[in-house]
Amino acid sequence: SRKKTPQLSEIINGLTEGNKASLSRAITLIESTAIQHQNKAKQLIEACLPLANKSVRIGITGVPGVGKSTFIEQFGKLLVDRGSKVAVLAVDPSSSISKGSILGDKTRMEALVNESNAFIRPSASGDSLGGVARKTREAIILCEAAGFDIIIIETVGVGQSETAVHSMTDFFLLLKLAGAGDELQGIKRGIIEMADAIVINKADGENIKAAKLAKTEFNRALHLYPAKESQWTPKTLLSSALKNEGINEIWELIEEYINKTKANNYFSEKRKQQNKFWLTQTIENRLKHDFFSQPAIKKELENQLRALDANETTPFEAAETLLAMSSNRTN
Ligand code: GDP
Repeated sequence: SRKKTPQLSEIINGLTEGNKASLSRAITLIESTAIQHQNKAKQLIEACLPLANKSVRIGITGVPGVGKSTFIEQFGKLLVDRGSKVAVLAVDPSSSISKGSILGDKTRMEALVNESNAFIRPSASGDSLGGVARKTREAIILCEAAGFDIIIIETVGVGQSETAVHSMTDFFLLLKLAGAGDELQGIKRGIIEMADAIVINKADGENIKAAKLAKTEFNRALHLYPAKESQWTPKTLLSSALKNEGINEIWELIEEYINKTKANNYFSEKRKQQNKFWLTQTIENRLKHDFFSQPAIKKELENQLRALDANETTPFEAAETLLAMSSNRTN
């Protein structure tokens, strides 16, 4: 492995100089599940950590078709034109099945891809959201070490991935479409609660009237939620990603948020809370994985499930039996 070490330092050097090819290779390394890559990945993260943390991390969610990629392309271009270096990552646990439902399509964000100060990476694949999310968290660190100062994390508006993205970003943006008057139905309350801003996209042409109406409704709804720890009142804005309208206002709003939460210390407090969350999350995932992968547990689990079906035990009794078997149990 002595021969391999320069390779790693080569990647680190390239990455810290802002070389996008090195950054790509670095992310591929941390995404690798091969045992021989894991130690390297660890070294890589350790080398990058002191250079990380100096960005703004923005989460963007919305159902397929809402205009996420069109929006991110315009938004990203705006930020690049303002002198920022923008990285776009994705959390999409479904991409392992559908071969990249978020960013797999290479023609997406063509204009942004060609910007030297933009970096776009499709979602890591993995069989669990936990695994995908962890890799994305690490990719954030690598992008920051490579000098990217605005990190956009995109996710689809389905399932649990929003919670994961919310817990790794500073600002959470929900993209919506104006519907037929039932804006607040069919939207999960939890997601509204997470949002720092709601953007009604496709506010153009015949949609304008409905979009304005939706904006009023969302703003009214947002006021019904209790005040946030950030002391930030979420707002609703309109955009037309297609016509490149309203994008600037959204960035201004995010800047306002950053200024406010840096002044009241919430910005760094939130990142500390997120770190704590990911630490316990990682332990929980590992313990769970280790537990369920024990052959004896696997076998006994089947027995207990059969007994449960036959009404011979209760879920709690069965769980106790299994937990008592686990070699990891210390109490
Ligand atoms: P995603 O699935 O959320 O990434 O959505 P896309 O960005 O791929 O957009 C889906 C479709 O909506 C595409 O045909 C876009 O051209 C269109 N679209 C995106 N933004 C707008 C917009 O602001 N106005 C209009 N009229 N169409 C848009």
